[in-house]
Amino acid sequence: MPIKVLDKTVASQIAAGEVVERPASVVKELVENSLDAGASQISVEAQGGGVNLIRVTDNGSGIPAAEVEVAFSRFATSKVGSIADLESITTFGFRGEALPSIAAVAEVEIVTAADAGLAGASLSLNNGTVVNRGRQARSRGTTISVRNLFHTVPARLKFLKSTSTENSHIARVVSEYALSCPEVRFSLTLDGRDVLSTPGSGGLLDAIIEVYGLEVARNLLEVKAADDVWQDDDVFIPLVTGMIGSPALNRANRDYLSFFVNRRSINSRLLSWAVEEAYHGLLMQGRHPVAIINISVPPEEVDVNIHPTKAEVKFRQERAVFVAVQRAVRGTLVELAPAPRIDEPTTTYGAPPPPKQLWAIPGKDMAPMAESPVVEPVLLVSLPALRVLGQVDSTYIVTEGPDGLYLVDQHAAHERVLYEKFREQQSLQQIDIQGLLEPVSFEVSPQQDEVLRNSYQQLVESGFSLESFGDRTYLIRAIPALLDRKNWQAMVRELLDNAVEGKVTNWADGIAVTLACHSAVRAGKSLTQEEMRELIQQLEQTRMPRTCPHGRPTVIHLSSRQLEKEFHRT
Ligand code: ADP
Ligand code: MG
Repeated sequence: MPIKVLDKTVASQIAAGEVVERPASVVKELVENSLDAGASQISVEAQGGGVNLIRVTDNGSGIPAAEVEVAFSRFATSKVGSIADLESITTFGFRGEALPSIAAVAEVEIVTAADAGLAGASLSLNNGTVVNRGRQARSRGTTISVRNLFHTVPARLKFLKSTSTENSHIARVVSEYALSCPEVRFSLTLDGRDVLSTPGSGGLLDAIIEVYGLEVARNLLEVKAADDVWQDDDVFIPLVTGMIGSPALNRANRDYLSFFVNRRSINSRLLSWAVEEAYHGLLMQGRHPVAIINISVPPEEVDVNIHPTKAEVKFRQERAVFVAVQRAVRGTLVELAPAPRIDEPTTTYGAPPPPKQLWAIPGKDMAPMAESPVVEPVLLVSLPALRVLGQVDSTYIVTEGPDGLYLVDQHAAHERVLYEKFREQQSLQQIDIQGLLEPVSFEVSPQQDEVLRNSYQQLVESGFSLESFGDRTYLIRAIPALLDRKNWQAMVRELLDNAVEGKVTNWADGIAVTLACHSAVRAGKSLTQEEMRELIQQLEQTRMPRTCPHGRPTVIHLSSRQLEKEFHRT
């Protein structure tokens, strides 16, 4: 085919494909325009997965009658005037592409009024061409209706998923904005069903209750912004706020992780990783946390103009953002697990500390909640002083605390103790070691040899004395003192196998976890009263006594209230 310039309609349909990938993209662009217009109420309505109809109504600034038609031409925007403006964008939109792109692939009708006193303007377009202009009364704000999306672009229509899938994408978009802008009242109706409606109170938690439900909201912890943030000469520290789930609240996928940069919802593998890292050792493998993270940075610190739908952004100082998010999340988790007071006498119990009231829910009737099962509000709290009563199955230690019974898994508990001890030695670079009676030659597989060569130094730093003896054989002369002498070979093999499978990203931590696992007292070993007391005391002094380093629980608590209920004494 000879080269020729594309026909205008075809060109604009192709260009539209960048911005309008599916019905949810239309919803996103229209909602962003409403937010940029300063709306405090935005209602979204969709039919047939958004293909038949998408209608967004707002009470924002509206568009002056004389400018309505211009708004539908390409690169028409009221938000950016020069290249310099692009350096510090504070609005969601800036390219002037959304309205013309949507109009290129659908039938669009807009009714808008910039001033309550004047009659509003209406305009209808079909595949980018104006078919009707008029005047229509309405209160200040804008309503845009998009019908028959992609009906002239069958190729795109073919790629859409089922109505319910498209609906769920739309719901996701509206939910994200409801979370990032809790001061705006959002409502969403899908095929006539009311799906979401937020109060617009300005409280993040109020929005979360509507989006995720009360049960999730009750198990969230507030991420506190540190006070000494923002700019410090050249190094800036981003402000991180939001809410994160207690480790007990976890999910099988990452759908419950939301990130907002200056209120813009973004996807970021880097930030997901930062959050997941902060939960390290608190969640079981394959489980993911719930988190709503708001990051505020000066606008010039972030480039939002790198992705067609602006779903990804680029930070000028990526590392600073990563660290700030990870610290904020980890800090919140750790703050709820303060080291217990060691001077607490073990036999007399004071009143337990009052539970943290993290979720006062204004305007909500609390009564029905009293009947729902007792959920410990924060599962990461320190342990109270516990009195050892005995052992069950040579596996669990039965103890009594200020509020009922605490069953401790002896292996998991000891793992937690050893893990923290070893981590501390690593961070102080003072590893206690034990020499082996005589050097042991240790043979490894070719794959293990590969990782061992690369991570030799990390093993040495963690207290292993080893030297290569050729032929995939190593001579080991000393091991960490905390590592069980009888199990050290199994430990090293497991570590190397994990590394071969790519599961070891942080060697120091990986060594500590495996060491703890192979050295902790086994299930099935009967312990003396003295040994149990010792273990419980050490557990109480760890920073995170309620989970083992793999994230499994170390303690099961049966409160006096639960016991009363079980025995029908209430
Ligand atoms: P952008 O948002 O990038 O500026 P759009 O094509 O989305 O480009 O919108 C073009 C212009 O139309 C905006 O700059 C704004 O002036 C106006 N506009 C669009 N939607 C609304 C709305 N809901 N309320 C007020 N003005 C609007
Ligand atoms: Mg826009």
